[in-house]
Amino acid sequence: MARTKLVVGNWKMNGSRAANAELLAALKAAGPWGAEVAVCPPTVYLADTVLALQGSNVAWGAQDCSAHASGAYTGEVAAAMLSEFGCRYAIVGHSERRALHGESDQLVADKAKAALAHNLTPIVCVGETLAEREAGRTDEVVKRQLSAVIHTLAHCISQVVVAYEPVWAIGTGKTASPDQAQAVHALLRTQLTAATQTAGDMKILYGGSVKADNAAALFALPDVDGGLIGGASLKAADFAAICRAAG
Ligand code: PEP
Repeated sequence: MARTKLVVGNWKMNGSRAANAELLAALKAAGPWGAEVAVCPPTVYLADTVLALQGSNVAWGAQDCSAHASGAYTGEVAAAMLSEFGCRYAIVGHSERRALHGESDQLVADKAKAALAHNLTPIVCVGETLAEREAGRTDEVVKRQLSAVIHTLAHCISQVVVAYEPVWAIGTGKTASPDQAQAVHALLRTQLTAATQTAGDMKILYGGSVKADNAAALFALPDVDGGLIGGASLKAADFAAICRAAG
């Protein structure tokens, strides 16, 4: 059975109540698409997002979630809280969190576990830096990152979405070539296949400077099941065009 494509917009720390209302209204009007579509606004805007997307096919999620259930973790947001706001997804292990907040492979895996425990689908990001790619370490790095999640989630691994996001392609305008993307996606699927019999049904998204004009070529690759979109998800027309390219 063909995997349905998924396109997720990661707004990062952008937006305002007024700008979001405009963007979400335009998105609602632009759909529906053949692909599943979701947006991940900053957490503080989730309540507005829930209201704005009522009756649309666009789902929503969070950009992160705590590995802890509750307690003295100032500034963190628990998976159960995100679930209360109807989130379907939680991005975990985005390279900005790994690099700027020192998140380890194990912490990312623990966050994925916390998300799953509250019926959120974790979107687990993996990806190498430019230095790692140039040193020929891409495969080793992404396998190590995914391996922590596989070991922590065990048989539940089939419930996650994986996003391959080469760090050097995020927000830089440099996209992995179709060959580069497919090679890593195939590697990740092989690794998942060793862990679960249903790896063939799992979604592996590509992220890193996906735009309206390169989305179709990336989404046509055999192991690319959609995209995690940063900058281009902030403009309704661009994001809608990417969603259209996914089906
Ligand atoms: C991202 O941050 O997940 C991302 C892919 O960003 P961009 O599309 O802007 O490269």
